[in-house]
Amino acid sequence: MSGRIGLIGGEVGHSASPAMHRAALAELGLDWEYEARALPSEELPGFVHELRRGNWAGVNVTLPHKRQIVPLLDRLEREAEQIGAVNTVSVQGDKLIGYNTDAPGLRRDLERKGPALGGRPLLVLGAGGAARAAAWGLRRQCGTIHVIARTPSRARAWTLALEERHDAPVLVRPWEVESFRAVDPEVLIVQATPVGMWPHADRSPWPEDVPLPEKGVVYDLVYRPQRTRLVEQARRAGLAAWTGLGMLVEQGALALELWSQQQAPRTLMRAAAERALEVDLDRVPDGR
Ligand code: NAP
Repeated sequence: MSGRIGLIGGEVGHSASPAMHRAALAELGLDWEYEARALPSEELPGFVHELRRGNWAGVNVTLPHKRQIVPLLDRLEREAEQIGAVNTVSVQGDKLIGYNTDAPGLRRDLERKGPALGGRPLLVLGAGGAARAAAWGLRRQCGTIHVIARTPSRARAWTLALEERHDAPVLVRPWEVESFRAVDPEVLIVQATPVGMWPHADRSPWPEDVPLPEKGVVYDLVYRPQRTRLVEQARRAGLAAWTGLGMLVEQGALALELWSQQQAPRTLMRAAAERALEVDLDRVPDGR
């Protein structure tokens, strides 16, 4: 079986996905090409046309195309449709099907890590694509859902539909110290903003003068650096806390399984991603 897979996004140079997928392709004995392509938004329709004609099995989609690509596809799988964003396209015959593997990627990684989620309130920081995927993806495991957003109207645009499908309230609060102070002591915090991401690793979204919730659990979607400031703050306060590498690996593994119909080698993919993340981007021109 020959073919092509890859990643499209506005900026793909710092991604760990190529290393992770190339290692997996070699392990599975798949003679596929992997291409990471930086694509301005105006070139997205042309690329989707190429997907239909070229020898593609599918692609991963990252910022800023996760929502823009939706109307260009033939069909969305249920979870992608609910979330309203696609991070994986699978070419099936002459049809392009959109999936969201971020949501199950996060869910499965958290299940593997084992914090008892059952009924914990969920706090999502941010209102973008990853925040939507986290809130939709964890709604069955969590009680009340809170979203703290810099632009609350952006959050409300999707929390209304989520609340209709959720048994507990979904509340949006502004990005203010008082919102952080008000969180439940047992909350699961999913950090879904780029705050703290390389090259601004000294930043944390959590206000310095607000204690972290005593019995909380923290999952920071940022994975570069592999220990973010927020995760360090949380661990120092005695909380279970992780960065998003496990989610990255799981969403990539799920995508590869959709394209290849083979079991993805997760352990090897994780090792390849870790090696890619160890490269010091501060010393590499353009972060590549
Ligand atoms: P996005 O769609 O651009 O959304 C980013 C959100 O963060 C927006 O709501 C934005 O607020 C908010 N934000 C940005 N800067 C902020 C600041 N200084 N203070 C407060 N809020 C701020 O991006 P995304 O796709 O959701 O990704 C978010 C993060 O998750 C990124 O770091 C990405 O790398 C990570 N991620 C990780 C994985 C994984 O597998 N681990 C998967 C997906 C995403 P506005 O709405 O006001 O602009």
